[in-house]
Amino acid sequence: MANIALLNRCNLRCPYCFADSYVGKERDDIKIDTLMEILDFCASEGTIGLIGGEPLLHKQIDTILEILKQSIWYHKVTIFTNGLLLKEVASSLNHPKFHLLINVNSQRDIGEKAFSMLERGIEEALKYLPRENIDLGINVYEENQDFSSLIYLLEKYKLKRLRVSLVIPKDKKEGGIPYFYRMKKTLLSLYKKAKEMGIYLGYDCNAIPECVFTDEERAFLDTLPYENQFEREIFTGKRSVCSPVVDIYPDKTATRCFGMYDKARVSITDFKTLNDLKNYFFKEVDCRIINNYPQQKCKDCYKNKTFGCFGGCLCYL
Ligand code: SF4
Ligand code: SF4
Repeated sequence: MANIALLNRCNLRCPYCFADSYVGKERDDIKIDTLMEILDFCASEGTIGLIGGEPLLHKQIDTILEILKQSIWYHKVTIFTNGLLLKEVASSLNHPKFHLLINVNSQRDIGEKAFSMLERGIEEALKYLPRENIDLGINVYEENQDFSSLIYLLEKYKLKRLRVSLVIPKDKKEGGIPYFYRMKKTLLSLYKKAKEMGIYLGYDCNAIPECVFTDEERAFLDTLPYENQFEREIFTGKRSVCSPVVDIYPDKTATRCFGMYDKARVSITDFKTLNDLKNYFFKEVDCRIINNYPQQKCKDCYKNKTFGCFGGCLCYL
């Protein structure tokens, strides 16, 4: 799936935001004719993501949702949102092809007012979309992070799907592997809680490699409820790679993924299809960077040699 950035503005300033080299620099809302071109370019996939900044801030968001609703090319449209403006657009989401991935920030981080907007947004979205089309997402960014706001929302709205992402620190002073060792306890505590609540887990970004876990931790990870075999392999670290996601911006440039916004930007107009573009990123980014080992022992690890692991995230290499 590719993602289209509808704009670069956001109504929050999350402490961990990995998109801040992009967000808020200038007003850059996508024009409808550009959107149509990009939708045409990505049509073979059948699925598309809408990202930002905060995509629901786009002045023509209702028109955009209507275009996607009418499109026969797309059977699934995922909107990545912080949920604050959902109340205003929820009635335009009345189609089973729409899925929400609502990134939850704690009440401490965004304040009472924004948190209650988020709650009202979820309530409204539930009037128009089935529960299974609404995932909550959490960015794990500090040790011993307080997940109580997230758990409160999962319980209150009886939501059963959670997407987890381990934030890539902005400065990357610490290497990826030491960072994973430091953060794994916090992630495992979240998984344990999710398991107790019967939540299905998905993983977004920055998967911890298997070698970072102890045998005991691996045994625990094996018991979690996953969406599918792919998710199982990612959570247990058996596969610690990602394929090019492809984020496309209002000026028709594209990057491999958000984490690589400042690297390897190309124009989609130089490619015939989305598949050509993905292959380009795979060959010109992934295949080149993977030769930089995240730690010495990777040199002899079969996973590194077989594209099963590049140590969590290419941004560290
Ligand atoms: S490639 Fe490196 S980080 Fe990945 S599992 Fe092997 S030793 Fe660990
Ligand atoms: S390289 Fe992979 S893990 Fe790293 S930011 Fe991009 S998609 Fe996420």
